[in-house]
Amino acid sequence: MSELIENTASCLCGGVEIKVSNINPKFTVCHCDTCRAWGGGPFFAVQCGTEVEIKGAENIKEYKSSAWATRGFCCHCGTHLFYRLNKSGCYNMPVGLFSKINNFVMTMQYFSDQRPDYYCFSNQTQEMTEAEIKAYFASQI
Ligand SMILES: [Zn+2]
Ligand SMILES: [Zn+2]
Repeated sequence: MSELIENTASCLCGGVEIKVSNINPKFTVCHCDTCRAWGGGPFFAVQCGTEVEIKGAENIKEYKSSAWATRGFCCHCGTHLFYRLNKSGCYNMPVGLFSKINNFVMTMQYFSDQRPDYYCFSNQTQEMTEAEIKAYFASQI
């Protein structure tokens, strides 16, 4: 894909630095109950593939949040760093970590049926419900 870009990110305290070779600027928002509990709101997740270099990995605490994915955060400052699919090893990272990129586009909203009534984005995006996601990703879980 021609849209792939490289960038670096770090947590608030600087204990973890991440370099990503392939970022897809078309990002997804997840409204599921787990993401909203984890971050206090929907998860703005950008696909970062598997070419991810992490410095300070000893400062990352991982939490297996489901049978298919693991979430990572800095154990000193709490910055959320990634959601990693166990099977493929693909990383999804919070879009806000990449301050140098300004061409991100919200293209998809996951778990639209779990989105609470108290917010709504005006962005024109595709949406998928839990049932649609489970059917679509059945092969990857
Ligand atoms: Zn930190
Ligand atoms: Zn989610």
